Amino acid sequence: MGIVGVTGRMGLELVRALHTADGAILAAAVARSGHPAVGKDAGAMAGLMPDEVLVRADLVASLAGLDVVIDFSRAAVVGATAEACGAAGVALLVGTTGLDGATQRSLDAAARRVPVLVAANTSLGLNVLLELVERASRALPNSFDIEIFETHHRHKLDAPSGTALALGEAAARGKGAPSARAPWPDARLGARGHGIGFAVARGGDVVGEHDVRFLGHGEQLRLSHVATDRAIFARGAVAAATWLAGQPAGRYRMADFLFPPQ
Ligand code: NAD
Repeated sequence: MGIVGVTGRMGLELVRALHTADGAILAAAVARSGHPAVGKDAGAMAGLMPDEVLVRADLVASLAGLDVVIDFSRAAVVGATAEACGAAGVALLVGTTGLDGATQRSLDAAARRVPVLVAANTSLGLNVLLELVERASRALPNSFDIEIFETHHRHKLDAPSGTALALGEAAARGKGAPSARAPWPDARLGARGHGIGFAVARGGDVVGEHDVRFLGHGEQLRLSHVATDRAIFARGAVAAATWLAGQPAGRYRMADFLFPPQ
């Protein structure tokens, strides 16, 4: 397995996750050209025993002999990763967020030749929550209001979190509605209308908490996920990438890995 963006926070988590993973080993570690880690041992860089995989900047040369690549780098890098993986016949899991339309088209092109999975959140628990929210939303009548609460550390820049929006999308899908993104109501004044509400808290070192509430008359259903360690994203990515390597070409989601057809 190869990692693109190996010098980043998530890249280092991926090296550590691979160290203890079943059925997958680190075989290539790709950093941006000119990064001081180029030429160094990837395991040692992640605080582990040296694993004799050297950090390299040459993506195309690094792909030789790989079955799958995980990219947690920068949005502007992903198009090149997709093109290289498509050309080399290497499966690709992308955890990098903020991808633009041109990058999505590069991923679509690669997916005609290799399996490609894109996930803005690779936590296994959170992806199960997405499925549960969609199912609960489908089952419950429209008289249940849907409110999504999220809390993150004080440094997070975007709000609501991409994951909170994805939970809203899942709830909207359950209702057969196209999108949950219509803001509701801006200042939280006046009687509640229809639609899915979002509430945000920021502070401290909270890794990520998401709470979806279905508020009915005389009952509430609450579905929650609490992340306490960034390593969950790396472990989920490694597990999904190991599965992805054995799939035919095409576009995949985490749900395809977690909920295979019976
Ligand atoms: P980071 O800034 O710590 O790491 C990004 C790394 O990519 C940096 O080390 C940078 O040097 C490297 N890079 C830049 N250009 C490169 C190139 N051409 N080739 C190889 N490497 C290159 O960021 P991070 O916190 O590790 O997050 C990385 C991405 O993953 C972000 O888009 C983030 O939003 C996303 N993310 C996704 C999940 C998920 O669950 N899918 C979880 C956390 C973060």
